[in-house]
Amino acid sequence: MNVVLLGAPGAGKGTQAEKMIEAWGLPHISTGDILRKAVADGTPLGVQAKTYMDAGELVPDLVVIGLVKSRLEEPDAEKGFILDGFPRTGEQAEALDRELASLGRTIDAAISIDVDRDVIVKRLTSRRTCRSCGKIYSLLADPPADPAVCDVCGGELYQRDDDTEATVRNRLAVYDRSTAPLVDYYRSKGVLHVLDGDRPVDEVFADVRRIVEG
Ligand code: AMP
Repeated sequence: MNVVLLGAPGAGKGTQAEKMIEAWGLPHISTGDILRKAVADGTPLGVQAKTYMDAGELVPDLVVIGLVKSRLEEPDAEKGFILDGFPRTGEQAEALDRELASLGRTIDAAISIDVDRDVIVKRLTSRRTCRSCGKIYSLLADPPADPAVCDVCGGELYQRDDDTEATVRNRLAVYDRSTAPLVDYYRSKGVLHVLDGDRPVDEVFADVRRIVEG
């Protein structure tokens, strides 16, 4: 199963991807995670990407397309994959189709998770991530006992640089401008599924399961 997760930042793509990995063991390809790791490691890619990311702008298409192409050619992606945060522009969607065609494959489902904007701003500005184990918390919906310490491993919890309110608003504007049109792109290919993401995680996942398992 080759799946694309669409939806504004904070819609819950990463959370649903985690549940999909648990259920089906598909590789999770998150361009945001790959880029954040490059920034943390201080690689040339990270240095190039950081300015865009901190401003909530998109990293140039050529850079991200190259990353995803090489990731899709790794052996574990042969059994299927979950793309999270890619494609984000028409250019990226077309490059993805070309790459998949060269591998004799297509996208089976594009799942768009819809959430009200005010809910997203609240969700993202209250999001905290553990520096050690990567667990994601919500200070509102799923608060740790101590807002600065991970319940699981005792690691330090931090707020992503791009989860401040001003940057979140810019990321949403970028989404509307560049990424929202992809909903129509996948609808025209007959693979689009739109889900209401303003519901408990397990309810959303029940719908995802129906789509993936048919
Ligand atoms: P995310 O974790 O998916 O919200 O991504 C965080 C940031 O990484 C975005 O705001 C962009 O700056 C960058 N990024 C992630 N995926 C892409 C992509 N497909 N195209 C361009 N920039 C991206």
